[in-house]
Amino acid sequence: MKYKCPHCGKETFSPWMKLRCGGMTSYGKPCPECGRRCVNGKASLIANTVLSLMGLAAILYCYFTFRTYRDVFLTGVIPFASTVIMRVLFNMFVGDLVPAIKRK
Ligand SMILES: [Zn+2]
Repeated sequence: MKYKCPHCGKETFSPWMKLRCGGMTSYGKPCPECGRRCVNGKASLIANTVLSLMGLAAILYCYFTFRTYRDVFLTGVIPFASTVIMRVLFNMFVGDLVPAIKRK
């Protein structure tokens, strides 16, 4: 399974490479075919923002409600870890790559 380079249109990015391209604020990674840099686009930006807020909400909820260490694990650690995992999976498998706009 490969993802399309927005510059040359060839399917050159593996999920692992797509993950390492980062978001729209990063420098991105060069396409193996044409050498121009690509980043994950707007869908990734929105998903990462929403998931970050959910992770933050989970931590705040946990902080104000926990009574035992079990509560910390169930309402804090697990929800936060799952938002981090979902961000990684989203960047690997969902959303399109776009040309990097940030200069070195
Ligand atoms: Zn390319």
